[in-house]
Amino acid sequence: MPKNYLSNFAAQNGLSWDAKRGAAYGMFQDYRITALYLASKQYMVNMNVHVEEPERVAELAAYLNGLLSTYPALNHANFQNNTITISVKSEGAQDVDTLSRLLQEIAGHCRYNNYANCCKQCGSTENLSIYGVVGQCETLCSDCFEKYTVDLAQASAQKKDNPVAGIAGALLGSLIGVVLWVAVYQIGFIAGIVGFVMAVCCIGGYQKFSGKLTKTGLILSIVIAIVMLFAAEYISVGIEIYNVFKEYDVSFTIISGLRAVPTFLGESEILSAMLKDLAIGYVLMAISSVSYIRNVFRKTSNEQEAVRLA
Ligand SMILES: [Zn+2]
Repeated sequence: MPKNYLSNFAAQNGLSWDAKRGAAYGMFQDYRITALYLASKQYMVNMNVHVEEPERVAELAAYLNGLLSTYPALNHANFQNNTITISVKSEGAQDVDTLSRLLQEIAGHCRYNNYANCCKQCGSTENLSIYGVVGQCETLCSDCFEKYTVDLAQASAQKKDNPVAGIAGALLGSLIGVVLWVAVYQIGFIAGIVGFVMAVCCIGGYQKFSGKLTKTGLILSIVIAIVMLFAAEYISVGIEIYNVFKEYDVSFTIISGLRAVPTFLGESEILSAMLKDLAIGYVLMAISSVSYIRNVFRKTSNEQEAVRLA
């Protein structure tokens, strides 16, 4: 696990290792740094320095660019908005050494040029700390952090969950899923694959109409998706019966088809086909919901987050 290399890097350099965020942060020589391991198998390190004069900004950018030829693992290095950002490709156990050497070199260069550590937001070099804000680690001054917490409180007060609108949205979204399910069934394809779309439409509908996806909203959306998926399969079987019987009996309507479904489910062949469709549908629904569930739980636990870390 390359994340472990980041924790080793943190331990070797006296930084804090935050397993929850998967981040290393703290003072590296005279500079606060934050380091993350990304899904793209690279490390992203941020360091904030205050550089005012345009020619010195250009100097720093050119210096960082020059590092690309010395460090093959270095994918990217730039300076923008008070922030030096580097991304380093993970190559295994040597990552610890690569990151340490690279940052020593950058910190040395900044110190030599008197580039002071600063707030990411405003560039102030006073009262700095590393803060955890909405799941991110950032070097901020106390003023910017305070402003941030006020904004956060205001934003969350304005953004209220509206479950009634949310349920309406989920039901509306589920109709898209039902229509699609019935259509795919009629074509003769495995309708179950639409289970994926059903969950996305219900959860997305809730989110759009309610303005916010809460844990309750997510559970309601999933319940609606489960019920509507069953309804969609039921309707599909009813239409199938109608299509067969209308040939023999002109008075046989779609309603008659739907009414006949329970009787036909007595036939093991029809029942097992229906169960197979539903099983695929529910499995795919579960798969498509997982990322939503993970996001919602992570978001609700991070949404209000604004803490001083180091
Ligand atoms: Zn600031």
